[in-house]
Amino acid sequence: MAQFTAPDAQVKIASSSPAYRSLDTEIQYVKGVGPRLAGALNKLDIFSVRDLLRHYPRRHEDRTHFARIASLNHGESATILGTVLSADNVKTRGSLVITKVAVDDGSGVIALTWFNQKWLKDKFIKLIGRRIVAFGTVQAGRWGVEMATPEWEVYEENADPLSSGRVVPVYPLTEGLFEDQLRKIIKGALDLYLPLVEEILPEELRDRLDLMDIQEAVRNIHFPESIEMMEAARKRLVFEELFLLQLALAIRKRSMDAPGVGISFAMPDNFAKELKEILPFELTNAQKRVVKEIAANMTRPQCMNRLLQGDVGSGKTVVALAAMLIAVRNGYQAALMAPTEILAEQHYLGITKMLGSLGVLDISVDLLKGSLRSKQRTEVIQRIASGQTKIAIGTHALIQEGVEFHKLGLVIVDEQHRFGVMQRAALMDKGLNPDMLVMTATPIPRTLTLTVYGDLDVSIIDELPPGRKKIRTHWKQYGERRKVYQALRTLIDQGRQAYVVCPLIEESEKLQVRAATDLAEFLQTEMFPDLKIGLLHGQMKTDDKDAMMTAFRAGEINILVSTTVIEVGVDVPNASVMVVEDADRFGLAQLHQLRGRVGRGEEQSFCVLICEGNSDDSIKRMQIMSSTCDGFVIAEEDLRLRGPGEFYGTRQSGVLDLGIADIFRDVPILEIARKEAFALVDKNSELRGEAFKALRRQLLRKYESFQLAVVS
Ligand code: ADP
Ligand code: MG
Repeated sequence: MAQFTAPDAQVKIASSSPAYRSLDTEIQYVKGVGPRLAGALNKLDIFSVRDLLRHYPRRHEDRTHFARIASLNHGESATILGTVLSADNVKTRGSLVITKVAVDDGSGVIALTWFNQKWLKDKFIKLIGRRIVAFGTVQAGRWGVEMATPEWEVYEENADPLSSGRVVPVYPLTEGLFEDQLRKIIKGALDLYLPLVEEILPEELRDRLDLMDIQEAVRNIHFPESIEMMEAARKRLVFEELFLLQLALAIRKRSMDAPGVGISFAMPDNFAKELKEILPFELTNAQKRVVKEIAANMTRPQCMNRLLQGDVGSGKTVVALAAMLIAVRNGYQAALMAPTEILAEQHYLGITKMLGSLGVLDISVDLLKGSLRSKQRTEVIQRIASGQTKIAIGTHALIQEGVEFHKLGLVIVDEQHRFGVMQRAALMDKGLNPDMLVMTATPIPRTLTLTVYGDLDVSIIDELPPGRKKIRTHWKQYGERRKVYQALRTLIDQGRQAYVVCPLIEESEKLQVRAATDLAEFLQTEMFPDLKIGLLHGQMKTDDKDAMMTAFRAGEINILVSTTVIEVGVDVPNASVMVVEDADRFGLAQLHQLRGRVGRGEEQSFCVLICEGNSDDSIKRMQIMSSTCDGFVIAEEDLRLRGPGEFYGTRQSGVLDLGIADIFRDVPILEIARKEAFALVDKNSELRGEAFKALRRQLLRKYESFQLAVVS
C-alpha cells in the first residue's frame, strides 16, 4: 500500500515537480483548481487526482465535423464554425434579457442566444470579425435558425481545442463548475499524471480479450481520438470494474464453498409430515421446490449461502420456518433477523402460532429486540446463550455485543436490502460457519443478482399462494381526493380495513411525523368522525407501536395512517385498501413494497396513488404502477429510471459501487468478466504471482470491507 499514499507535505511543496507527483495529490493542488473549485469538485466525490481521472464523462459528443449553417435542421445537435457579425441585448416581455449573437459561416447566419447573461454582449462585441466554434441544439426561432445557450470557444487555428473539432467529453457537473473548466482541468491532469496510472490487468488477459492498456484507455475515455477508440476505452474500463467485483465475489464464494467448512445437517425423520402439521395450508409448488433446494444445500458439508428471492406475499416466511425446523431438529439453533421491530414481532407471532399448532411446543422461540427492558433482555440473552432458545427472532439487536449463541447453525436474514453485507457477516460470526439464507422481498433483475449477489446461490419463489386477486391500482389527482375517501368509506362499511400512507419527507423525520399526525387528525375529524383511525410512525415508543399493530390486526382500527414503517413485511390479510399520498415522492421499488401490504387475503384489494404527476418521470412511475403488479417488471423499470447505483440502497451497502459499468448495457461484458474471474480464482485462489500483484493490491483496496479472507 505504501506507494499509494503520498506524504501531504511534499505534495504541497511541489505538486508539479515530477519527483513528488502522485495520484493521491489533493485536488486543490491540481493545476487550474484551487480552493474554490476544489469545494465544487469535492461535491462530485473528487478529492484526489485519482478521483479526477476516474470522473468519467456522462457521454461524448462527436464534434469532429462542422455543419453548414444553411443546412441545419430543427432539433439536431451540431457544431458550427463561423465569424461573429454582431452582438445585442434584446429585452423580452417578462423583463428577461436575451443576448443575441449573429454568426455567419458563408452558407448562412445563425443566432446564438443566452438568457440573462447581459455581460456576454461586451465579450462578443470584442470578438466581432473573429471566428468562433459553437455547439448546441438547433431551433427554429424568432430569428430564424437559432442555438440557445450553446457551448462555444474562440477558434484558434493551431491550438488543441478541447470543446470542438473532436469527440468531446460531457461530464457530470455540480454548481459552480462548468464543462469547459472541467475539461481543461482534466486535460491538464492527464498530461501530468497519466504516466502514473498503473496497469492491473495481466497482459495475457488483455491480449486474449483484446483490451486496451490502462493509460490508453484513460486517455481515450476522456479525450478520444475517435468514437471507435472511445468505445474500446470504455470496454476496457467496464471490464476492469466488473472483473474486480466478480473477483471479490468469487473469492468470497470459494472460501465459503470449501468442503468441511460448513455443517452437514441430516434430514430429520418425519420432516415432511411435521411441516405439514405445522402449516395451516398446503405449500405452493414454488415453495415446495425452494424448500427442497434449501434442504439439499443444508445437508451438504459446505456452508449454505443462499438468496431466497420472492415477490411480496409469495410466502417466504414459511420457507424460512422449514429451514429452521431442519436446523433445530439437528440440535442447532436458528436465528431470524428482520430489519424492523414490527416485522420481527410479526415473525415471532406468526411462527409461535404455527409451532403452537404442533401440540407440543417443544421448540422454544424467543424475541430479542432493542426495546426490551433490561431484565427481560438479560433473560432472553441467557436463554440464547444456554441453548434453551431454539429459534431466536430479532432485529439487529441479535448481532450486538453480548449476544452469544450456544450452537448457532442457521442464520436467516429477512428483507436483505435493508442490511449491508457487513451486518450479514456479523450475524454469521455468532456461529461457527452457520448456513445462511438471505430473503429478499424485492425481485432483482437477473443481471443485477449476478452482480450484487454473485457469491450466493439463488432460489426463486415465482408463484403466489392460490386465491390471490390482482391488486387494482388507480392513479388519482389531488382534486379527486374526496371521491377517493367516499370509495374508501364504502369498502370499510363492507368490513375491510385500510392503510393511508403519508407523504415521504426524506429531509426530516420530524416533519414526516408531523405530516402523519396531521393527516390522521384530518381524517378523524373531517372525513370519518365515526370510524377508528390509528396512527403509526417511527418515532412512537415500541410499546405504543406494538399496541397499535395489535389493535389493527384484531380489526379494532378501520384506517391506519402510517409512514413508511409499514413498508416492509407487515401482513394483515383483512387490510385490502391502501391510499398513498403524494405517491410521486416514492420510488417504484418502494411503492411496490408498500402496495404489497394489501392483496394478502381473499378479497379484491385496491391501491390508490394520489399525486399530480408533475414530471415525465413521475407520470411514468404512476403508469407502471397502475399497469402491473409484477415485481420483476417493476424492478427492471425502476433500474432503468433510476440508474443502477440507486437501486434499493445498494449504494449504501457498499456492494455495488460502479463508476462506469451500466448493468443493462454491459451484460455481455459482465458475463465475460464473471467467467474470467471465477476461472482465475479456481486456478489461483490467492492470486499468487508477479502478473497478479497489482490486481491483488487493487482488489484489496477496493473491496477491503468485503472480508476477502483468502487474499491477504
Ligand atoms: P412474504 O414473502 O412477503 O414474506 P409472507 O411469508 O408474509 O410473504 O406470506 C404472505 C401471506 O401468505 C401470509 O399471510 C402467509 O400466511 C400466506 N401464505 C404463505 N404461503 C401460503 C400458501 N402456500 N398458501 C396459502 N397462504 C400462504
Ligand atoms: Mg416477509
